[in-house]
This record gives sequence, C-alpha cells and structure tokens, in this order.
Amino acid sequence: MRFEISKVLDAIEGRVCTDPSLARAVVDLAEVIRWQDLDGGRPASLLRLGMVIDALSRQIEEDSVPVYAIVHRALLSDADLTSNERMVVRRWADDGLVEVLDHPGDRMLEVADLLGLPVLSRARFDGLGGRWPWLGQAGRVLAPVPGAGGPVFIAHVGGGHTPATASRSPVGAKLLARQWRCPEPGCALFGGGGGGGAFADLARVDRAPAGQPPPTLRNGVPTCPRHGTRLGDAGPRPRTAVLAVRIGGMVRQRFALTENQPVPVGRAPDTTGGIVLGQWLNDEARRWISRSHVRFELRVGEVIVTDTSTNGSGVRPGGSMAEPDRIALAPQQSRVLGDGDLIELYPGVQIGRADEVTSDAKFSPTSVMAEAPTMAMRLPRP
Ligand SMILES: [Zn+2]
Repeated sequence: MRFEISKVLDAIEGRVCTDPSLARAVVDLAEVIRWQDLDGGRPASLLRLGMVIDALSRQIEEDSVPVYAIVHRALLSDADLTSNERMVVRRWADDGLVEVLDHPGDRMLEVADLLGLPVLSRARFDGLGGRWPWLGQAGRVLAPVPGAGGPVFIAHVGGGHTPATASRSPVGAKLLARQWRCPEPGCALFGGGGGGGAFADLARVDRAPAGQPPPTLRNGVPTCPRHGTRLGDAGPRPRTAVLAVRIGGMVRQRFALTENQPVPVGRAPDTTGGIVLGQWLNDEARRWISRSHVRFELRVGEVIVTDTSTNGSGVRPGGSMAEPDRIALAPQQSRVLGDGDLIELYPGVQIGRADEVTSDAKFSPTSVMAEAPTMAMRLPRP
C-alpha cells in the first residue's frame, strides 16, 4: 500500500511546477490537502492535490496539466500528513517545484495576476476585488467540490465553471522579461542551481533561468517570495516558445523550448529534458517512431524542427489535414515552423505551438491517480 501511494505521489510530482510558461492554475496546498469531503478520508492528504489536478485536466481537456502550488512553511511539519507526504513536499520545495513561504498572504492571487492564471480555491476573497479586479471575471476563481466522478468546479466568486486564463499582467510581463538572482545561497526559486537546503542531497534539477517563477513585488521591488530578499537583475530572460504534443486528437503534453536548449521528442529520447511519447503510442506508432524522432530548437525567435528519425516526418502547413498539403520532412532535414504548422511524426501524432494545438477528440485524460489504491480514491456518498 505504502509503495502504491509513493507511486501516486511521484505521478503528482510531475504535475507541480513554478514554471510560468507551463503552470495552468494556482493553488494553495495547505487549503487543498484539507478538503476532506473530496474523499472522506484523513484530515489532510496530499492525494487530494492529485484529485484536483485530475479535475483541472478534465476541464481543460488536456493531459499532463501542471499546477503552481503555494505552500505554507508549516505544512512541512504538519502532523496530519504522513511522514512520507511531508518528505515529498520538502523534496518539491528543495527542487523549486512549489513555492514554500513563511507568510503566503495573497501570494496565490499575485501569481494568478502576474501570470494570468485561474485560481482553484474555496475562498471568497472578500474585500480583495479592488486590488485584484479580475476576481470578478468568470472562471478566474473556481472552487473544487465533490462531484460524481471526482471533484467538479463551481464558482464562489465571479461565476463560470470553466477555468479561464488572461494575458500576463503588464507588471508580470515586465518581471518575466528578466532573470533574477536571490542572494540567499541555494535558493530553489532564484538560484543558479546546486541546491543547499536541508534536503539538498535530494535535489535533482538545476533551475533553468527561463523557467524561473515570477518574483513577488514588495514596495515595487522584485523580491524573493521565499527569503524576502531583494533580487538581483541577472539580465534578459532567454526567450521561450511553448509547444504541445497531440496524440489521437488529444493534447498530451506541453513543453517549453528555450534558446540554446534543443528538445528532442520521440518514443523515448535518452537526453535529459527529452519528451517521451511511448506511453501514449499504439504498437504500430511505436514501431514507426524513433527513440528520438525530431529535435526542436528556438533560434532568434523562430522554432526550427530537425528530423532525427529513421522513417522521416511530415509537416501539416497551417495545420491542414488535407493529404495533398502534407510536406515530407526527410531524415536529417530541417524546417522553420510556420504559423499554425504541425509536425507529424506518424498519423495522429502531431506537435505544434501550444496556442495553436487543441484537443479535438472525445477526451479521456490519463489520471494522475491511476496508481491510487482504491481506499484513497473512495468517494463520499451523496
Ligand atoms: Zn530566495
């Protein structure tokens, strides 16, 4: 049982991030883990985060949807969590996958404002509409509540039941145009990598500057939300393009492409940071698609795709699915990704810019809770 729960927590770990290009909603972890009515279980459970992530995935009809979690520091020693869950949250903190704060205040709303993301919360945020006017917009604040097949979203504020995004706020756009450096050694959010926290030996990723979270503003000064220290400006942030993989008509994963950091995509690329498609492919597609099938690069703002496969790829110009329009991309050939273009690795396996690729088939997302023991998944009777 313990082992199974560990596997679910590992799966959930793949769905928490503070990367401004990839996060799709903001949550307060201290709030989410106490929604006991979602499963009728223990007073606090980290698995509820998985249930909420699944609900978000169902709502926006995409797999692999990550959330931006704000974590009150007290949670790292919360006795209502199991020791395993506490260790997992500490690991997320040390890896910079979540934001751990002594005084979260309205950081959740600040992040939602800067990044233009919806907030998943049962709070009503009374009296905060003046500071954050978008709180009144439909879909910007949704409360996950028990539903027949898992949590569903209702509005306590602003109306709507579908998560809505907005553009980054002007301040957010400005902050995210620069990279920032925290003077605190081993800062997991604004460090140069290397770690140094209490669990630094468990830290596995160095923070890429392009994926840095938005600083918090204190009296107009960019500040580390974790350490409260003034951040140094470390120059322009590398440009980023967000691409999405669609398989069988469903968006399976988004990934960020940064200048000077090519990303291989294929059945099972052996490079760190490569996008692994194997889990979503049928036998024929697995046979056709090479381990590393195509490589994406961002150069001077243009997305360049290079075929690295045995069998070649195709380009669907402007997303056209008409066969005469399809352009072959032979092995080793490169091409600039034009507006709306989709790269096709195999029929039904396509990659394009995230804002130009949507799910167009009946969607049945892969649950992050697939490994959950039935006990943890028990739903309350209506
Ligand atoms: Zn810091």
